[in-house]
Amino acid sequence: MQRTEREVGAVLGSAVGDALGAPFEFGSAGCYSRRFPDGVGEMCGGGGWDPGEATDDTQMAVLVGESLLDCGGLQLPDIFSRFQRWAASEPKDIGLQTEDVLSSGDPWDSAAALHFQVNLRAAGNGSLMRASTSAVHFAPAGRGATMDAARRIAALTHGDRAAWEGTAILHDLVRVALDGDDPLAAVPEALAEVHPDHRARWALALAEGWHPDDATEFNGAVWPCLGSALWALRTTSTFEEALAAAVDLGGDTDMVAAVTGILAGAVYGASAIPARWTDPLHVPLPGYGDRILRAEDLAALARRLGAGASPPRTLDTP
Ligand SMILES: [Mg+2]
Repeated sequence: MQRTEREVGAVLGSAVGDALGAPFEFGSAGCYSRRFPDGVGEMCGGGGWDPGEATDDTQMAVLVGESLLDCGGLQLPDIFSRFQRWAASEPKDIGLQTEDVLSSGDPWDSAAALHFQVNLRAAGNGSLMRASTSAVHFAPAGRGATMDAARRIAALTHGDRAAWEGTAILHDLVRVALDGDDPLAAVPEALAEVHPDHRARWALALAEGWHPDDATEFNGAVWPCLGSALWALRTTSTFEEALAAAVDLGGDTDMVAAVTGILAGAVYGASAIPARWTDPLHVPLPGYGDRILRAEDLAALARRLGAGASPPRTLDTP
């Protein structure tokens, strides 16, 4: 399989997971299999979402990807200001913590940290869900550069280092998958690069025997979200099955399926994503006029991000 096929798979796979899971958000376990007893899931819409409509997960991923391309690399203040413009335009879905940080009026390099100081809880999964585009872009720069960029982008909205480390792990596992290798087998290597204060807790959630029932937090938290995505990948053998398993867990279904879709898309490639999911897929972009991206736009974005990959030209320190 060509690398481009995997890059498109990661970006498209995440968007498809987001749209597939959105109607089931806060549903109970088994929500997907009850709705689709024959196992053939459709983009069904519901809960305020049209069939195939992607949510904040994909919207933010697009903003990150377009910033990386327009700036020729990682420009954190630019990503932050794109996020702010989007957040100020009343997107249908936005994480509480992300909204607080982006609307605080504090500068890009301290808003998330200030929020964390006051609230002490900032380990939501909001920096995982938007990882597809940056993961594709930074992968060719290698493990160190990829994980470093992931942490910096996560830190724009999440002050808790647990979220940075989880986002860094996810980026690195996507990098491995884009190389055609098994991301599940690479978990120990990624964990070795995790900050020592956070390594043990991440090792627990990403262990081979971990099951989503073992989670000690709602899967809107960063650990069970990534843990569930790896579980969905580990216990299934096709792209469709992985996403079905992710949504069927219930809870934060769009997020867990979006994260699962990044990995499953990189592993199985874009051609494994069924047309009945990509055809109705659309990504409105609040704050950016009437723009609505379709599957072919996301594929083009992924190709450009992969092709333009180079070590970041500028690294701003958060
Ligand atoms: Mg969402």
